[in-house]
Amino acid sequence: MSALEKEVVETPAIAIAGHSTGADWLARYSSSLMGVFGTPQRVLVRGAGSLVWDADGKEYLDLLGGIAVNALGHAHPFVTSVIASQLATLGHVSNFFTSPTQIALAEKLLAITKAPAGSKVFFANSGTEANEAAFKLARRNSGASPDDTAKPRTKIIALEGAFHGRTMGALALTAKEAYRAPFEPLPGGVVHIPFGDIEALRAAVDETTAAVFLEPIQGEAGVRPLSIEYLQAAREITSRAGALLILDEVQTGIGRTGKWLASEDAGIAPDAVTLAKGLGGGFPVGALITFGEATSSLLAAGQHGTTFGGNPVATAAALATLHAIESQGVLGNVLAVGAHLRDSLAAVDGVTEVRGEGLLIGFDLDADVAAAMVTAGLDAGFIINSPGPRTIRLAPPLILTTEQADRFLAALPGIINAATLQTASAQTAKDAQ
Ligand SMILES: *Cc1c(COP(=O)(O)O)cnc(C)c1O
Repeated sequence: MSALEKEVVETPAIAIAGHSTGADWLARYSSSLMGVFGTPQRVLVRGAGSLVWDADGKEYLDLLGGIAVNALGHAHPFVTSVIASQLATLGHVSNFFTSPTQIALAEKLLAITKAPAGSKVFFANSGTEANEAAFKLARRNSGASPDDTAKPRTKIIALEGAFHGRTMGALALTAKEAYRAPFEPLPGGVVHIPFGDIEALRAAVDETTAAVFLEPIQGEAGVRPLSIEYLQAAREITSRAGALLILDEVQTGIGRTGKWLASEDAGIAPDAVTLAKGLGGGFPVGALITFGEATSSLLAAGQHGTTFGGNPVATAAALATLHAIESQGVLGNVLAVGAHLRDSLAAVDGVTEVRGEGLLIGFDLDADVAAAMVTAGLDAGFIINSPGPRTIRLAPPLILTTEQADRFLAALPGIINAATLQTASAQTAKDAQ
């Protein structure tokens, strides 16, 4: 082995981390990384299963899973070995070419989403890119409306609280004013309507509507599920108007709720589904699935593309992830551990509401302590997330064990207490100014 090869083999994150402390790294971070994420909570160097370790050697139970991404936890042996062997065989080819893993993954996704004949897949590298593709798909649904008015279909409907990504098209679909306002004008025609309100949807969808975008459970908004009735009504309303029903399952798909798709229970066939986050088990990959022949031919040859999308490594990673989920009974684990967590959380002092399905869980506190809980959680060795001032989100690896869930449940009252004290003393200090 040459000196260069040896160096590369011995230079994973741990070797680069060397003997620097987390504080050293964060100082270098702030002078070299763009400030869009604020200060990172920790510098992580290593993971195994549902555990991660930081640069100072502290261990954490990861109850966020890289924001619903690390479906099989960290450094899953099977997924890791498939990625490594694919990379050592054929890593990238561009879309002038295809590869067996790309085709096999497309077939697998059509099978697990029960897509009808004529359905197709477009691969991207992230959730926002999958939604950009879906946005362009919606723009191509420009045909005359069923009642033959000549009005163009330019309206796209999304919900208040929606999160669909941060690039310009996906951002146009995202509701949050603070994300949108600095970047206007955004691609036009998007209307946001009240969450979960069937009558508002019925009133908004008309012959000029190209598509309705829905998250079956709004993740970033604090884990807010749409009802089965809402999803069914959305199918009926969009079908009648000739509008596409596009489900963003970037966060909820691939077993997160104990099913392949969170929308399964509604028994509806959407026109398109977007996936990403958990799909590659931590490797970046996204997908747009179009249902049926007509929708699948809306984007014609040359009308969309990507250099990296669907590359052999990403698609092998996703195939390995899907295979491991299937062969290791992971969906059953998600249902069992998820139900246990939700039932137990509902009984914790200070918790006012628990929402979600499987291992996508949101719970509300009786005060604005969520941000302080994230910090107190880290101190106690748990990674959790606060999508709102009094909301905590959990999206742990789908392989989380009951014993690990119980460790968190046992620590939770202490985390809430510490956060309450911290919040109170911060308020006192503020009042004293
Ligand atoms: C995270 C997320 C996205 C964006 O995905 P990225 O991979 O961050 O681009 C889109 N939609 C939903 C519902 C998400 O949760």
